[in-house]
Amino acid sequence: MTERAPAKRVHIKSYGCQMNVYDAERMTDVLRPLGYGLTDDPEGADLVVLNTCHIREKATEKVYSELGRIKAMKERKAEAGGEMLIAVAGCVAQAEGAEIIRRQSAVDLVIGPQSYHRLPEMIARAHRAAGEMLAADFEAEAKFDALPIERGVAGVTAFLTVQEGCDKFCTFCVVPYTRGAEFSRPSADIEREARGLAQRGVREITLLGQNVNAYRNDAGGGLAALIRRLARIEGLARIRYTTSHPSDMDAALIAAHGEVESLMPYLHLPVQSGSDRILKAMNRSHTVAGYLETIAKVRAARPDIALSGDFIVGFPGETDADFEATLDLVREVGHAAAFSFKYSRRPGTPASAMAGQVPEAVKTERLARLQALLESQQRAFNAAMVGRTVPVLFEKPGRHPGQVIGRSPYLQAVHCAGGGELIGRIAPVTITSAAHMSLGGERARAMA
Ligand code: SAM
Ligand code: SF4
Repeated sequence: MTERAPAKRVHIKSYGCQMNVYDAERMTDVLRPLGYGLTDDPEGADLVVLNTCHIREKATEKVYSELGRIKAMKERKAEAGGEMLIAVAGCVAQAEGAEIIRRQSAVDLVIGPQSYHRLPEMIARAHRAAGEMLAADFEAEAKFDALPIERGVAGVTAFLTVQEGCDKFCTFCVVPYTRGAEFSRPSADIEREARGLAQRGVREITLLGQNVNAYRNDAGGGLAALIRRLARIEGLARIRYTTSHPSDMDAALIAAHGEVESLMPYLHLPVQSGSDRILKAMNRSHTVAGYLETIAKVRAARPDIALSGDFIVGFPGETDADFEATLDLVREVGHAAAFSFKYSRRPGTPASAMAGQVPEAVKTERLARLQALLESQQRAFNAAMVGRTVPVLFEKPGRHPGQVIGRSPYLQAVHCAGGGELIGRIAPVTITSAAHMSLGGERARAMA
């Protein structure tokens, strides 16, 4: 974690038992990566937490009178142009629930001891409701947090960001805190940019977003409507999109896979785990059965589609049986490609504080087994291409003279003999060899 002065100040007032003192420490720990440092003084704080106790008589009334005092501080801060969030935690929060907000409308959050793991999510949502972005201070890990922009070959293919942020709050992930709420760019801006790219010779665009299929335009149209609009642009031969969430795969997008010719038959749809218990602990909002149903519908629309995904092994509480369920899912779907990761503890996210953290050696062993399976499936998928003739978009010269490299519709790299004049063109190639990550082929006269 980078040591920076905290961007915000939190005052936690604990009442009663030792348990509350411990809970206050836990809250301080989860709030630190969200940019909060402790202050002894509630006046002027950005967040005031009353960590309440029910044991003593009149405790509830004491909390309400304290809230009246803090409300006055909140108003003083608002007059000075600032913002203060008020949270009620602990046993009174548990007992009174939403009644607290009804009696004292200045309260922003009510959180019982059973829900402390949701505190980061609730704080982030309260900031969003107030129109503010959290100054989260998570250590960046490009492989998890960044958009996948490493494959940009200037000239022929391009990435186009259409959506940012995330509203999902998976318990392992920092993106909702660091990137803020889901936001979609106006479709007219996207279309203008796509036209400009096509005029400069770009033949393939990949629409990007942390949750790209949550895209919504100003008129409420989804990603499918955007894709259909972009598909009309002259010169733009191929469209892809990444990264999608299973819960946002709507019927219109699935239908587009069967109907829009330039939408490539490749879908990256992260599932993370094959165990419903783990998916629930991850707050993934989809089940294994729901994911399989979506895959079946996508395959009905586009039978040759290649499926890819993201997987996490060693999430807190993952047993051997949960992990085996993930392997079963991979076998059942037959993923043609995938990214797989060992669960990495990100301080400030709910999962980092969960019991049952999995030992590193177990994660390493599980990842090796999962990756061996994924690799064998990818090799089989590639081997099945041998003898087929597919359209290849040539992107760049190969490492050897007289060689060019392009991509199949299924995103496989294809090496082929040919000169620079091929770059930017789509031409039929008969696949003659296959390896783990790439194919070899020869130019064909026509599509077989
Ligand atoms: N929004 C996409 C989704 O939910 O499917 C994924 C975007 S996420 C930024 C990229 C991938 O990084 C995730 O799908 C997940 O597999 C992985 N990831 C994120 N946080 C992680 C963590 N703490 N430990 C291990 N893998 C993580
Ligand atoms: Fe992170 Fe993706 Fe989950 Fe959003 S949906 S929290 S970006 S893993």
